[in-house]
Amino acid sequence: MDFIPYGRQSIDDEDIRAVIEALRSDWLTQGPKVIEFERLLADYCGAKYAVAVSSGTAALHIACLAAGIKEGDEVITSPISFVATSNSVLYCGGKPVFADIDKDTFNIDVAEIKKKITRYVKAIIPVHFAGLPCEIEEINKIAEEHGLILIEDACHALGAKWMSQSGSWNKIGSSSHSDMTVMSFHPVKHITTGEGGAVLTNRWDLYNSLLKLRSHGITKRIESFRNKCAAFGYSSIKKKEMPNQWYYEMHELGFNYRLTDIQSALGISQLKKIDSFVYRRQEIAEQYNNEFSSIRYVKHPYKYNAKQSSYHLYPLLIDFKKLGFSRNEFIEELKKNKIGSQVHYIPIHLQPFYRDKFGYKEGDFKIAEAFYAQELSMPIYSGMSDADVERVVKAFKGIFNV
Ligand SMILES: *Cc1c(COP(=O)(O)O)cnc(C)c1O
Repeated sequence: MDFIPYGRQSIDDEDIRAVIEALRSDWLTQGPKVIEFERLLADYCGAKYAVAVSSGTAALHIACLAAGIKEGDEVITSPISFVATSNSVLYCGGKPVFADIDKDTFNIDVAEIKKKITRYVKAIIPVHFAGLPCEIEEINKIAEEHGLILIEDACHALGAKWMSQSGSWNKIGSSSHSDMTVMSFHPVKHITTGEGGAVLTNRWDLYNSLLKLRSHGITKRIESFRNKCAAFGYSSIKKKEMPNQWYYEMHELGFNYRLTDIQSALGISQLKKIDSFVYRRQEIAEQYNNEFSSIRYVKHPYKYNAKQSSYHLYPLLIDFKKLGFSRNEFIEELKKNKIGSQVHYIPIHLQPFYRDKFGYKEGDFKIAEAFYAQELSMPIYSGMSDADVERVVKAFKGIFNV
């Protein structure tokens, strides 16, 4: 009996062939595969531009830099996320300001965002938790009203959709109601490149900024050169000015956050399967919902008519107090049945670093903390068979004696 983790990648022979082909090609990095992956990702999501980078965290970092976040700026985000979300604000010298979550969607609460607006707030970074789209159109209205940059952390939500107020289905990643959207291709996410991430945007200015930040702050684009004298020489053959071919300029302090061609080849191959990956996750969630809805002390994720979750996670709320089991014992019981589970997440404001630096404490975000006390994510990934799902359900019900 194999161990069923809470999440894992699905790699097939096609993926392996794609990587081998990249290894045999002329380009290991900064070649045609990166450009192709970016084009396919942007087209899939319905955004104009995609910038592929070395991780979701790197994507968040350069998105915050492109947004102009600096010392003294505040950025509103959710306490229920991976620490990378708010850390990206800290990298830029900004201050993450948390707004509590909604008790049903587990996404940032729009009314709570409004309460946190000050003259120091520069941006909002909502997270589409577990793959369920947040109230992006409402949040966009707040951002526009106050002149704030809006960055979606969609690391959970590739392949998710919401019904827009105009009545059409919009894909997460389209950035139709934000400035930028961030994705991750870590192995537990919907598609993987080993490590990897991307920023999607429809804004040409941000796109150019992101391209520079990804690669040392350097540009080789002729039209953006600032030192024209150094950039151009006189050609005695053509009798006119021509660009110096070796020339490049560094405009700001960037990083080496590039994705390789090897990784991009895997990304291209994975992206071909995204719809079936998401569909399988939705099927599993449906099965779980049916099975868990009748169990006392268990609350499964709601299904919304106007939102299609891509189910990066399947978060259950379990009333461990009433159940008479501690969560740790519960996890241990599942493990005995060779089933993994995980808690998503310890509220970020309760991390010692955040407590020490900003004075956050227990009780600051009550809904997030109540959520944390009950949350347990059950296994969900596209490679899970029906038999795997049944094994999880059986073990789970065994613990409840139902
Ligand atoms: C995975 C994840 C990240 C970070 O992505 P990496 O690719 O692991 O750096 C950021 N935010 C959220 C919500 C994530 O789930």
